[in-house]
Formats: sequence, C-alpha cells, structure tokens
Amino acid sequence: MAEKLKIISLGGLNEIGKNMTVYEFGGDIIVVDAGMGFPDDDMYGIDVVIPDFSYLIQNRDKVRGIFLTHGHEDHIGSIPYLLRNVNAPIYATGMTAGLVKLKLEEHRLLDKTKLVTVKAGQTIRAGKFSVEFIHANHSIADAVCFAIRCPVGVCVHTGDFKIDPTPIQGGMMDLGRLGQLGKEGVLALLCDSTNVERPGFARSERSVGASFDALFNGCEQRIIVTTFASNVDRIQQVINVAARYGRKVAVTGRSMENALRVSTELGYMDVPEGVIVDVSHIKSLPKNKVCIITTGSQGETMSALTRMAFSTHRQVEIQAGDRVIISASAIPGNENAVGNVINELCRKDAEVVNERLGALHVSGHACQEELKIIHALVNPKFFIPVHGEQRHLKTHAKLARDMGMDPRNIIISDIGRVIELTPGSIRLNGTVPAGRVFVDGYGVGDVGAVVLRDRRHLAQDGMIVVVLSMSNEDGSLISGPDIITRGFVYVKESEELIEELRRVTLEALDRCSRTHAKDWAAIKAEVKNDLSGFLYKKTKRNPMILPVIMEI
Ligand SMILES: [Zn+2]
Ligand SMILES: [Zn+2]
Repeated sequence: MAEKLKIISLGGLNEIGKNMTVYEFGGDIIVVDAGMGFPDDDMYGIDVVIPDFSYLIQNRDKVRGIFLTHGHEDHIGSIPYLLRNVNAPIYATGMTAGLVKLKLEEHRLLDKTKLVTVKAGQTIRAGKFSVEFIHANHSIADAVCFAIRCPVGVCVHTGDFKIDPTPIQGGMMDLGRLGQLGKEGVLALLCDSTNVERPGFARSERSVGASFDALFNGCEQRIIVTTFASNVDRIQQVINVAARYGRKVAVTGRSMENALRVSTELGYMDVPEGVIVDVSHIKSLPKNKVCIITTGSQGETMSALTRMAFSTHRQVEIQAGDRVIISASAIPGNENAVGNVINELCRKDAEVVNERLGALHVSGHACQEELKIIHALVNPKFFIPVHGEQRHLKTHAKLARDMGMDPRNIIISDIGRVIELTPGSIRLNGTVPAGRVFVDGYGVGDVGAVVLRDRRHLAQDGMIVVVLSMSNEDGSLISGPDIITRGFVYVKESEELIEELRRVTLEALDRCSRTHAKDWAAIKAEVKNDLSGFLYKKTKRNPMILPVIMEI
C-alpha cells in the first residue's frame, strides 16, 4: 500500500476566519496558515477565537514548517498560540514576516522562533514536502499561492487572492507559473471561495485612486481617511493623492502606524520626503493641508476613528466640515458599529463619504470569472473549495462542475475531517479533533461552553446572591439571609421584593431544617429552586441565583 497524502483543515471551512490547513505525508507535516477569528456577539469577554491545535500538539514531532500565504489576521493571528505548543520554523514573504515579527515581539517569542523570509519564485524543502511560493494579488502586499509537492503529487493552495492586472506594486499575479503547473499536472486545487457568489471580476486596486483624487480635488477642508491597516497599497494611494494636492499626512492608530513602519522599512511603500508629519503637528496646519489616515474602518471600539468621533482621541478632534472617507466595506457583523461611528461623525457636522456613495473600496478576493481562470490554468484532477461558509463552498463546487469537472473529484470537507489522496483517488476518511478555542486575556482555552453559558445568563438576567451563616453544630440560621443583586433590579426601589426573597429563603430553610439539616448542598439547591420559581412567577425573569452558606 502506497503512502497517502492527508489534507486536514483545522479552520477556514464553514466559516470565514481562523484559516489553517495541515498537509501530512510519510511522517511529515506542514501547516499552511495559522489564523484567528473574532468572537460572535454572544461570546462575552472573548477576545479572539483560535483553532483547536490538539492534532498538531499530538504530532508536534512531525511538524516541519509553518507556511504563511499572507499577513492578514485570519491567516497569521494564532501563530503565537500555536508556537507555545509546537516549535517549527515559519516561512513567509517579506511583508508577512514583518507583521509576524511584530506579533512575536509582543508575545516575547522572537528569540525562540525561526522566521525565514522567502521570495515569490523560491522553493522550500520541509521533510518530504517542498513548497513553492507563487506571487498573487490580494488586499495586502506580498501574498502568495503555494505549490505543495510530495511523492503523491502537486497541490496548489491559492490562499486569498484576486487577479489584479494593474496592482499598485508587486506586479500581476503569476498566472504563467500556475499555467505551467497545470500543464505538468496538478493533483488537487484548494481555492479561495470568499467571493464565489459575485459575478465578473473584482475591480483593480488602482481604481480606488481615481475616487480619492475626485474627493481631494478642490476640497478646502481637512480630509480623514480610514481603511484596513494592512492594506498598504490603499494607504500608498492616499499618500500619493495627498502629496499631489500638497497635503501633509498624519497617521493615527497603532495597527496603522505599525503597518506603515513595516511596509516602508521593507520597501513595500514609497513615501515622498516630508509628506508624513506627526499627528501633533496638524493643529498648526491650514485645513486644506491636512490629511489624516486612521484605523477604525470597522467601527472598532478602541480604534482612532471611533475615539475621534466620540471625542476621546487625545490629539484629533472632529471639526465641522471635516471630510471623512471610509475606504472599506463593513465586514458582516460590524455594520452596527460602523453605523454608530458614522452617526456620531454626522452629529459633529463632518461630511462622511462611504462606500455606498463612491467607488472607495475594492475586494481583495477573486470573483467568478477570476476563479474560472484559475481553475482553467491549474486544471487540477481533484478540487477542494476552502475559505468560505457552506454556501460559498457549495457554489464553488458548482462552478467547478459547470467547467466540466467530475463531481466525484470534488470534496466539500469540514474542519477536522481527513481528506486522503492518492495519485488516482480522493476520499474523506476519519476525523481529528477540531473546533474553536476561546482566548480571554491571558487565558487560552480555559473559557469553555459552560462559562460562556453563565456569562450569557448573567448578561441577560443578572445575578442574585443569598448569603447565610449557619451553625455547624445544629444547622440553625445564625445570620442572614442577606440578598445581594447585580444586574437584576435596582435594590433601593425594590426593597419589597428583596424582603419577599428573604421570606422565601427562610421558608425553604425552615423546611430543610426538619428534613435534612446540615446537608449544605441540598439546602442550597432548595433555596435556589424556591427563589427561582418565586422570581419567575413574580417578574418573568430568570437571574442566576447563588446561595452562599458560611458554616460557623
Ligand atoms: Zn486575506
Ligand atoms: Zn483570509
């Protein structure tokens, strides 16, 4: 029996976020991307969501390398958490490596980690695998596709991409190389499905520049632009147009400042001399000489634009007439936050220009016609749609069938499912642990479903604590019950209710003293039960009830 190639997604299927794919052959493993996701609205207190790495931890001795397609958080965000458990070299292009380096510094992992910068066109050996880096276009500089070789065959893993014939820098995606690989024979294609529902082609990044120009031309007010911090080509275009109209540019927001620093240091951005000024200098400039580039395109609470809008930014105050350009679309789930910021900006008489009013944003992901070009060039034997929710994966499978692919050669997988490949076959066979791990502050994985359920409960209905001191000798009540509420009712106005809760508690205690005195667990259960029944009848609310008994 010949060895099989296994492909296992630990994230990025049936979700957009926390992308991670494992390739395994002959005792060697390589990992493509290690992303994070953001919590849903009801995951109280959770900062980020990362993939369940159990499978990699169990097999840590086999991991030969972590290969990164590009520097977006949904592809690199969980690296610090992965590295705590699995020590393997990281291979990435310059821009991606620059962003990873910031992360490693922050988590004090830089010294312990081997971070290798690779150029598009180069090939890295890792155990029985070799990985070729192929230049791609995306909404961040220096994105790549991978051609992953092992004795079973070649897999093309696109990562996130679009085909941009007129990118700002870096040149058009290397379609020629993908075509060559297709001619030589590709076993499997794993392809970005994000925009598979959109017909046609994604517009070129360059087209946004013309929109900026129209908004800067003749404007006598200050201009404030927000976009994704990682989109250095977009930032470059803002800087170019600002320089053209004689404006100075100030950058605010930590991730934006980081992106600017990394990309200029590494040569991904070209900033004309004297254009950038410190944000503290803008006060001394005339309005028509000011351009501020800021974070906050998603209405993030702590971002610079949100702070400006709500007057909590230390250096920039919104002035009437400021032209605020939102060069981004709201990621699903962020619409309300973005709406709140826009309303607040309008309240201060700023002029807000967002995507709906102009061509101010283009997507970084391939639309249908671009996907078809990739399928045609790569011409794979097998196809695995990735980077999408179920509906994207299904639509992408249909696109492949419409192009003539045998449905039996297409696999829609799920996280944790093992795809087995031989040179002539593909099938799902077995599963490995996979899922979501919650990060809350320094805690990784300690907050699970039960804790989240409690937090939801507390958030919805609040909490009532009943404190009792009881005798260790005969089980009699020594003091209390004291009733403390949090997030339930305003105590001062409901003394009556609190009094009734005391009465219900005393009745329960009285009953218990006759049947099971000193059985603390049973007493707590009865108190809790009686109180919750009473409260529900009285208020139709269901707070969390915590009886606390102090034995004296
Ligand atoms: Zn991306
Ligand atoms: Zn992505």
